[in-house]
Amino acid sequence: SGVEYSEVRRPCRIMVLLNPNSGRGQALSLFSTHVQRMLTEADAVPTLVITEHQNHAQEIVREADLSQWDALVILSGDGLLFEVVNGLMEREDWEEAIQTPLGILPGGSGNALAASINRYSGAPALLGEELLVSCGFLLCKGLVSPLDLASVHLASGQRFFSFLSLAWGFVADVDIESERYRQVGAARFLLGTLVRLASLRVYQGRLAFLPAHEEGTVEDIVEGVAASSFTRSSSTNSSFHSTSPPDSLSSSFCSAMSCGPVANPSPTHSTFCPENSAPDDHTLNTLHNASNNAIKLLQAGSHTTSMLKGPPDSLLPPLDEPVPTHWTQVTEQGFVLVLAMYQSFLSEDLLAAPEARSGDGCIHLYYVLEGVSRAALLRLFLAMERGTHMACECPQLVYRQVRALRLEPLSPQGAITVDGEQVEYGAIQAQIHGGLGKLISG
Ligand code: ADP
Ligand code: MG
Repeated sequence: SGVEYSEVRRPCRIMVLLNPNSGRGQALSLFSTHVQRMLTEADAVPTLVITEHQNHAQEIVREADLSQWDALVILSGDGLLFEVVNGLMEREDWEEAIQTPLGILPGGSGNALAASINRYSGAPALLGEELLVSCGFLLCKGLVSPLDLASVHLASGQRFFSFLSLAWGFVADVDIESERYRQVGAARFLLGTLVRLASLRVYQGRLAFLPAHEEGTVEDIVEGVAASSFTRSSSTNSSFHSTSPPDSLSSSFCSAMSCGPVANPSPTHSTFCPENSAPDDHTLNTLHNASNNAIKLLQAGSHTTSMLKGPPDSLLPPLDEPVPTHWTQVTEQGFVLVLAMYQSFLSEDLLAAPEARSGDGCIHLYYVLEGVSRAALLRLFLAMERGTHMACECPQLVYRQVRALRLEPLSPQGAITVDGEQVEYGAIQAQIHGGLGKLISG
């Protein structure tokens, strides 16, 4: 499909960054039992670097002599790759540094990129050690493909790069709350989802985006047809696409909870801005203006923008200016979740964006509007295990392919995550840079 592949040279010198505490704390033994020999036999000589604390990988990569390495590989969860990507982008020579092929071996509890790479290779969906072995083989093959990175801006003026996802509302809450279930490994997201359903909330905010294809043009229609025929052929060809979500599980779980619409959170969650106690427009405007002024002061004082490395974000106006008129503004303001994906898997077992491909230059944007019932939302997440959530035909679920987006939360409290890690809550915008990095994939 026009995507260019190259191969890592042999013998290949690989720096393997390993977080010993990732997942259930077994990354080191997973490396020696499943990966080390395979790599050595493939003439891909691994040098193990064990991280000692948070941000250690970022520091190492920022300072490393990259001429000594043909690839940087992480054995951990997605969190460690986030550090590596941003460490590379913080360097003076970021343009060259980010061309270093990156690889991932799943050893964490959030292994979304590993699951995505496995999918792009055409292999059936795998979990746990089977996924690790599959990713080990792909690393030995050493095929390199483009990696899209999203440039993300926060209201504080901070900017960083994201390779996986941006989430607000339900998915972000699950990301954060499920940290406490890390001992169950990859199943923590599904468990967190079930727990979160019991206290579902609606968030107020504004969402705007730049569609990837001009609406209504020939290009849009052709792309739409191509996308739908791809979905159809891939769902008939591969055994891991089933069309029917496990209804018995969803209905029995739903009957254990009250399954009404979720527009009114229970009184015990009143701090999270139920509709009947929402701050009035005047209060919100005052808060909004005050924070905008604070941001301007911060930006003026620290010259943040002039110090930023990385490519210019030509699609994004400053966060305190309106989005261009050719962007699409979502008219509704009550959201259960907003999820932007640039790889196919959200976690090892959630195929959130089945159409996503490495290097497709696209943000796959999903959002669920208020009014969805708990039962319907549960059905969506169960279907997402096989990537069939769009087939649920849930009227509150919207899917768009976009190049840039802006999210402005109006609810005073909530969480936003980028690549599964919590970031400061507030206005956020992002644009995709197609093929800015390189990924060792199938
Ligand atoms: P998991 O998927 O299990 O969460 P991650 O790779 O996402 O695994 O790592 C989780 C966090 O651990 C990351 O934010 C990373 O910065 C941090 N980290 C890396 N090395 C260490 C270490 N030696 N001790 C503690 N935390 C670490
Ligand atoms: Mg993580």
